[in-house]
Amino acid sequence: MRDPRYDSLFQPLKIGPVTAKNRFYQVPHCNGGGYRDPSAAAAMRGVKSEGGWGVIFTEQCEMHHTSEITPFIELRLWEDKDIPPLARMAGKMKEHGALAGIQLAYSGVNGPNLYTREVPLAVSAMPIRTFTNDPLQARALDKEEIRDLRRWFVNAAKRSQQAGFDLICLYGAHGFGIFQHFLSRATNQRDDEYGGSLENRARFAREVVADIRDAVGDTMGITMRVSLDETIGDLGFSNAELRDFIEMHRNLPDMWDLAHGTWEDCSGPSRFKEEAAQEELVRGIRELTDRPIVGVGRFTSPDVMARMIRQGVLDAIGCARPSIADPFLPRKIEEGRIDDIRECIGCNICITGDMTMSLSRCTQNPTFMEEWRKGWHPERMNAKGDSGTVLVVGAGPAGLEATRALAERGYDVALAEAGTELGGRLIGERKLPGLSAWGRVVDYRAYQIGKKPNVQIYFNSELDAESILEFGFEHVCIATGAKWRRDGVSRQHVVPFAIDAAMPLFTPDDIMAGNLPRGRVVIYDDDHYYMGGVLAELLVQQGCEVCIVTPSAYLSDWTVNTLEQHTIHKRLAGMGVEIVLNRGVVEIQSDHVVTNCTYTDALTPMGCDAVVMVASRTETNGVWRDLKARQSDWADAGIRSVRIIGDAEAPGPIAWATYAGHRYARELDMPDIGDDLPFRRETAELAPE
Ligand code: ADP
Ligand code: SF4
Repeated sequence: MRDPRYDSLFQPLKIGPVTAKNRFYQVPHCNGGGYRDPSAAAAMRGVKSEGGWGVIFTEQCEMHHTSEITPFIELRLWEDKDIPPLARMAGKMKEHGALAGIQLAYSGVNGPNLYTREVPLAVSAMPIRTFTNDPLQARALDKEEIRDLRRWFVNAAKRSQQAGFDLICLYGAHGFGIFQHFLSRATNQRDDEYGGSLENRARFAREVVADIRDAVGDTMGITMRVSLDETIGDLGFSNAELRDFIEMHRNLPDMWDLAHGTWEDCSGPSRFKEEAAQEELVRGIRELTDRPIVGVGRFTSPDVMARMIRQGVLDAIGCARPSIADPFLPRKIEEGRIDDIRECIGCNICITGDMTMSLSRCTQNPTFMEEWRKGWHPERMNAKGDSGTVLVVGAGPAGLEATRALAERGYDVALAEAGTELGGRLIGERKLPGLSAWGRVVDYRAYQIGKKPNVQIYFNSELDAESILEFGFEHVCIATGAKWRRDGVSRQHVVPFAIDAAMPLFTPDDIMAGNLPRGRVVIYDDDHYYMGGVLAELLVQQGCEVCIVTPSAYLSDWTVNTLEQHTIHKRLAGMGVEIVLNRGVVEIQSDHVVTNCTYTDALTPMGCDAVVMVASRTETNGVWRDLKARQSDWADAGIRSVRIIGDAEAPGPIAWATYAGHRYARELDMPDIGDDLPFRRETAELAPE
C-alpha cells in the first residue's frame, strides 16, 4: 500500500534508551486546554496515537510553581497531585504505540507568576518579557537557587517517569524556557561561571541533563528544544552560536529538537512562510552531532518530508499544526492515501486558542479538542440516523463540510450552489496575497465529496423558499454565507454614517470580484482581522497609493492572536502603506474622508480617490427567513427540519464555518438534549474546607 519513496519515514528511531516506531514526531504544542481540560487534551493526543505518530509530546508543562505563565493555560507539574492527569495523557499517547513525551518548562524571565505570586526568578534581573508587558521584573537566581532549580528539574523528571512518559523535552526555544535564557547573551548577563563565554552559558544545560540522566536516564530519553536563531541580532543566540553550542556538546541530549527563534518565527503563517521555511537554518547541523535531530516546517507534503530524511537535513519530521489539521497524517501515508491528507492551511487559528485562553480550534479539523468533550473523531462519523435526505444550500466552507460529513454518515445529500464553483468566500479569498494555501479548505472537501456516490452537486442553482418546498428533502441546511457591508456599520458605527455617493466605494467582495479602485485609496478597517491588511497589500501591488485607517491601536489587531500582527505591520510599512492608528472615519465626502481621533475625537480630513470599507458582514439569510415564515407548509412538503449555519447564521472566521458544518452533520437525527449542556466538561474537585 505504501509508496516505497516514503519508506524512510517509517524507519524506527532510537532516542537514548527508547525507540520511536517511525519518524513522525509531534512536537510540543499548546491547545488552550492544559490543566483546565486535562481529559480533553489527553483524548486529543490519543487520537494522534491512533493516527500513527511515533512520538507525541505534551504542550509546555510548568515544572515548578515559582515559574508560571498565567493567564495562558498550559500543564502543571508542581506536586504529586498533578501526576494523575498527566498519567492519563501519557496513557492515551501510548495507546497505539507512540512514545509519550513531556516538555518541562521553567519560564524564568517569561513567567510573571500572576497566579502563584512568587517573585519571578530569571537568569539575570530584568523586566518580565510577555505578550502583555506585565509591569514587574524578575530577580536573578543566585548560585544556591541554581542548585535548587537543578533539583526541581530532577523532581519533575521523576514525576514525569511516574506518570509514564518515555521522553523529557527540556524547553529552551521561542524565547521561552530557561535553557535559552542561559544560552543567550540577551538574557544572560551574569558574570559568574554561568555567564560570559558560551562554555559558561551552556553550563546549566549540561548540569541539568547530567542530573536528569542520573535520575531517570536509563528508562527515559532526554531531548533539548533550542532555537535555531534568536533573530534579535548579534546579542542574541544566533544560528552560528547554536552550531557552536551543538558542536561543543555533540552528545548532550539524546535528541536535538530545533525550533525557530521566536514563536512568531517558528509558527509563521502560510501568508508569510512556506513549507520547510527553516531548512537553511537547520541544514548541516546533523553533521555536528551524533544524536538525531528533529525540526519543524509546517510539513504536509510526504515528498518534502522524505527529502528531509534522505538528504540528511533531519532525522525526524516535527509537526505541530500538520498533526492538528490531520492527526491521521502518518497512517494516510502508510496506507497510500496521500490524497486524503487534510493539509494544514497555515492560518494559525489553532494558536488563537492558546492566546485567548479558550480551547483551540482548527479550520481544517473541526473535531480538534472535541474528541473528549463531544466524542468527535477526525476520521469517523457517528452512525446514520433514521432519515435519509438532506438539501444543503450554499457551497462555502460550512456547506462543504456539512455535505462531506453528512455523506460520510450515509445520508443522500444534494448540494445546491448559486454560483458555478465550490468554495463560497474562499473562491475570492484564496486569490488574495498570501492566502492561496487557504484554498485547501475547499480542495480537501471537494475531493472527498467527489468520491461519494451519495452526493449530488447542483451549480447555477440559486434557490428560494418556494423551490425548496417543492423539492421535498427531509432536512434543509441553509449555508448561504454573508456579504461585506457597504454602509460602514461595524464596531465604531452601530448605525450607518454619512457617505457621499459621489465617492467611489468598494467592499472586499467588490475587490475580490475584480472591481478595483484607482489612485489614492483609504482603507477603513473596523474589522481588525486579516482582510484590511491583505487588501492593502493587493492594492499596492495594483499600483494604488494606500492609506489604512483603523480605530484600533494596532493594525490588524486580532492577528496578535495568530502571531502575525508584527509581520503584517512590518510588511505593509515596508511596502509604503500609510498606517493610521487610533483613528476612525466619521464621514465620507466626494473627494475626502473625515477621520476622528479615537481618544480626543479631533477631526482631520484626508483626501482620496476611493474608499475601501472593511467593516462587518451581513448574513445572507433571506431564504431561511422565508422558509421560517412558511413553517406551516413544511410538513406537507415532507420537510422535518430547516437549520441555518455558518456565516449565514452569524459571520465569523472560516474555522467557525467548518465547525458549524461539522456540528450540523453530527447532530442531525440525534435525540433532543433539551436544556442539557452539549458537551462534557471537567470541573475542579472541591478540597476539604
Ligand atoms: P460559509 O462561510 O458560511 O460557508 P460562504 O459565504 O463562504 O459561507 O458561502 C456561501 C455560499 O452560498 C456561496 O457560495 C453562495 O454563492 C451560496 N449561496 C448564497 N445564497 C444561495 C442560494 N439562495 N442558493 C444557493 N446558493 C446560495
Ligand atoms: Fe493549520 Fe489553521 Fe488548523 Fe492551525 S488552525 S492546524 S494553522 S489549518
